[in-house]
Amino acid sequence: MMALALEQAGCVLGTQREAAVVIVNTCAVTGEAQAKTRKAIRHAANLPQHPWVVATGCVASLFAPELKALGSNVVVEPNKAQVASRALELLGADVPETGQDAKPAEALPHNHAFATPTGRTRPGIKIQDGCDNHCTFCIVWKARGHSRSVELEQVLREVRAAQQRGAQEIVLTGINLGNYRAHRPDGTELALPGLIDEILTQTDVGRVRLSSIEPPDVTDELLDVMASADSRVARFLHVCLQSGCDRTLHQMGRVYNTSLFAHMADRARQKMPNISLGTDLIVGFPGETDQDFEESLAFCKSMSFSRMHVFRYSRRPGTPAAARTDQIAPTTIAARSAQALELAQEMRAYEAEKLVGKRELVVVQDRGRAVSGGLFDVLVDDSCAQNSLIEVQIARMLSDTTLDGRT
Ligand code: SF4
Repeated sequence: MMALALEQAGCVLGTQREAAVVIVNTCAVTGEAQAKTRKAIRHAANLPQHPWVVATGCVASLFAPELKALGSNVVVEPNKAQVASRALELLGADVPETGQDAKPAEALPHNHAFATPTGRTRPGIKIQDGCDNHCTFCIVWKARGHSRSVELEQVLREVRAAQQRGAQEIVLTGINLGNYRAHRPDGTELALPGLIDEILTQTDVGRVRLSSIEPPDVTDELLDVMASADSRVARFLHVCLQSGCDRTLHQMGRVYNTSLFAHMADRARQKMPNISLGTDLIVGFPGETDQDFEESLAFCKSMSFSRMHVFRYSRRPGTPAAARTDQIAPTTIAARSAQALELAQEMRAYEAEKLVGKRELVVVQDRGRAVSGGLFDVLVDDSCAQNSLIEVQIARMLSDTTLDGRT
């Protein structure tokens, strides 16, 4: 959305090294992510052409003064909807000097200045922001505020614009997609399943994918829309589990338990036997005992996830979990993370193997490389056009994460 607004304002994409304005979309989800975003801002602020650096996103909301202190050319704009106009404003302003070697940037005319939507083959379309849950480890809901959604017409405009730029697959993104609530032009309420249905009916986009979703939001209605859309909705759901232990889930303030999750997975697999499931897992949440952790891993194994992102618990100041006195030792967290990553790899290999001999619809990312509905890398013939959506036969596994696809 931000990229589209910039494009509509006449900006063009440039590399960091030539940009007059660099936008850094910050992330506060873990301490590590936050440190990386600070590093990115510092790096951009010190580029030789001395660009304006606009920091947006969660860290910008929570720690504006600290980010501003990273450079006199750093500007903080937490509201992503305002970033395009802020960038344009800055293009007409002089960049402040930060030191002897700093060279003031030339304010370029808008139509030569700056970023457009990227050439990404699977662009994200942001349909929702904010979250009404209060997970005890999370700082994102504080940074982003209450849930709000993008109206249907705007979403459709974005999808069509992505198609015009050649995208065959679009990814619906948000902080909590299941919170999506908007309206049709006739005033009737629209939730996520209805939105997907509208996108499929009102555009001819090749494939729609959901970024991630909370377990209670995987409703029968959603699964039915996915199942009846056949290949036009990717047969993949990234459902955030966070822990496979009910005691830990309760302490995390998550609003489901493992039996709800297992029931959801069963229903999804009944309706779409070829669906792949992915998840996020946090290890080392305060108070997580060895037994809790083993229980959590055993549950993950029973779910056979094709992708499992493992996060080491990261203490976010200001959250209830950070104030707990039963924090887990970093060495224990590291050991649990290694064990969980090993399981993630095992499950991925197991799920990849199941695809051998099957036909799969893949999006060609770049020369010779494509991505399947379940997000496996698939090597394809070099002659396959970038961005095309093609069906291939999976001939064999090349590694745990890569498959050989034949057209
Ligand atoms: S669902 Fe929980 S973890 Fe996810 S953004 Fe909301 S509060 Fe944070």
